[in-house]
Amino acid sequence: MKLLKQAIMEKGKVLSEDVLKVDAFLNHQIDPELMKQIGKEYAKRFKESGITKILTIESSGIPPAIMAGLELGVPVVFARKRKSLTLVDDLLTAKVHSFTKKETNEISVSKEYLKEEDTVLILDDFLANGQAVRGLMEIVKQASGALAGVGIVIEKGFQAGGDLLREQGVRVESLAIIQSLVNNQITFREE
Ligand code: 5GP
Repeated sequence: MKLLKQAIMEKGKVLSEDVLKVDAFLNHQIDPELMKQIGKEYAKRFKESGITKILTIESSGIPPAIMAGLELGVPVVFARKRKSLTLVDDLLTAKVHSFTKKETNEISVSKEYLKEEDTVLILDDFLANGQAVRGLMEIVKQASGALAGVGIVIEKGFQAGGDLLREQGVRVESLAIIQSLVNNQITFREE
């Protein structure tokens, strides 16, 4: 997606050979216009998939997921990373090891909001080793829902997550795939 790649080139900061910081438009400050276009792009790619619900993970997955939900006309559910006082009963849970924070969280979603009859689109901001997506897939499985696919804003193609998921037959739609961050240079995978 051209607009997204432009934003990455102009505003992204390479923190190391495997971490990209995009606090200027996605992970801290949020660019609503870009989020709107991202929502439209997901809707275009998944409009024939019979999606009934979008599942993401707090917090950075939420802005693009809301915009996609608006375009597709479906609700957005976000998995919580911390225990909530009001979210205690009837939970679907999975363990997720965070690539950036180097800690394992139990993520949870109320059974009320994800059901057997749902066809789910999983969305997230980044895809690295695929832990977050796998945790969300586990939650869809526990709900006995159907997985339509996975939408990612920025995939780091030099890490294994995306290709492993595709090898397993999961439809992964990444709006930008980074090939390398070596030498402070951002290069994209050819599409
Ligand atoms: P994975 O679970 O696929 O290993 O990592 C994906 C998760 O880690 C995303 O939800 C995202 O929050 C975070 N993440 C992974 N790599 C990066 C990165 O290079 N930059 C940022 N900002 N977040 C990342």
